[in-house]
Amino acid sequence: MFISYSGYRLFFRFALPLVLFMLIGALFDQVVIVMLFGTIALLVWHYRQITRLSFWLWKDKKLTPPQGRGSWEGVFNGIYRLQGKNRRRVSKLSTLLARFRQGAEALPDAAVVLDAEHNILWCNKLAQLILGFVWPQDNGLRIDNLIRHPNFSTYLKKAQYNEPLEIPSPVSDKRLLEIRVIGYGDRQLLLIARDITRIHQLEGMRKDFVANVSHELKTPLTVLQGYLEIMQTMEAPDSPNHKPLSMMQQQTTRMQSMVEQLLALSRIEDAVDIDLSQTVNMALMMDTLKEEAYGLAGTEYTLEFNCEPGLNTHGNELQLRSACSNLISNAIRYTVPGGTISVTWRSVATGALFSVKDTGVGIAPQYINRLTERFYRVDNARSSKTGGSGLGLAIAKHALNHHYSELNVTSEYGKGSIFSFIIPSHLLVRQ
Ligand code: ADP
Repeated sequence: MFISYSGYRLFFRFALPLVLFMLIGALFDQVVIVMLFGTIALLVWHYRQITRLSFWLWKDKKLTPPQGRGSWEGVFNGIYRLQGKNRRRVSKLSTLLARFRQGAEALPDAAVVLDAEHNILWCNKLAQLILGFVWPQDNGLRIDNLIRHPNFSTYLKKAQYNEPLEIPSPVSDKRLLEIRVIGYGDRQLLLIARDITRIHQLEGMRKDFVANVSHELKTPLTVLQGYLEIMQTMEAPDSPNHKPLSMMQQQTTRMQSMVEQLLALSRIEDAVDIDLSQTVNMALMMDTLKEEAYGLAGTEYTLEFNCEPGLNTHGNELQLRSACSNLISNAIRYTVPGGTISVTWRSVATGALFSVKDTGVGIAPQYINRLTERFYRVDNARSSKTGGSGLGLAIAKHALNHHYSELNVTSEYGKGSIFSFIIPSHLLVRQ
């Protein structure tokens, strides 16, 4: 147990020898001389204590301080106590750090801590395994010198980490990694890499399965459709078979259109690097869309088409037309006769806007986010009646993604909807 020295006690210890020297001096009638020599002796003693302290602090390997005497005892003990406190704090911190590291090692993903200049500060074992880092040799190296994929360097340079990046693993081309970067603390970054090879393979299998099944269904459906048509023409109009045959034909037509849409979706999904160098003449495309719309709507709807002249875009004409025509046919199908559908193509600040506005049934807000999922329909009964498959908006979404664009939906239930997308300025061609 160390004693702390109060200011009063220290003063007392300092004054005591001086009083003693004064008394001895008075005894021999030599107050000044005795006081002078006494003070010098006191100074020499204090200097010795400072030397002992300095030796212990800088040179001595011992943990315990030298035995302090007089007023120095408190100082020595105080420093020792402070050191003990610091040692306990350091050991607490290192236990915490060790626990954090154990936690990070237990992560199912590779984790790398980077500083603001993208130098590696720390990585877990999985990072060494799937990113091929060597620890501690790679400590302090720039991460883009170790992961040498051009997309990765661009991703780091852009510093927009909202979307993950997919790149092949630096260890093996056959493995695919999903990289996420999260900023934290003083401009530090946490990089998380996950092996998504298996998920990617499964996704590929799913796409192939859908494409193959759809393809295989096409021929039997065409045969069925053909025979049903023949059988229908052979039946007399008042025959009891007439109704079932026409129902069967309706359903096969529906199945055929579903298969067509599934095939279109797999084609669009598969086309990763589509050629966007082609210039799409939007005025011509709008004319075709208008014709199709009139064919579908007849005279029961008011159709308005506004197209800004000379505003064209680079892109894939088939995919863009498929997206636009899906939006227009939906607007017609989900609007009761008598309604108005306005289609617009015009310049806006960030590019060119294509929008389809209807005065139809509208969509409640809770369904809007799910519209582009495959086979998703807000109201199954109504959608079946309109002949929909639930694939149209999924096709539109993929087609628009290939054009650096996304589908925006605003809708008011019971009043109508606006489906729109913006083609970014860098794709536009103005004449
Ligand atoms: P479907 O072939 O069923 O129309 P889509 O993928 O084109 O499939 O659309 C998905 C769902 O979104 C539709 O079933 C419908 O409920 C809703 N929807 C799409 N467009 C509109 C619209 N203009 N007005 C109201 N609902 C719409």
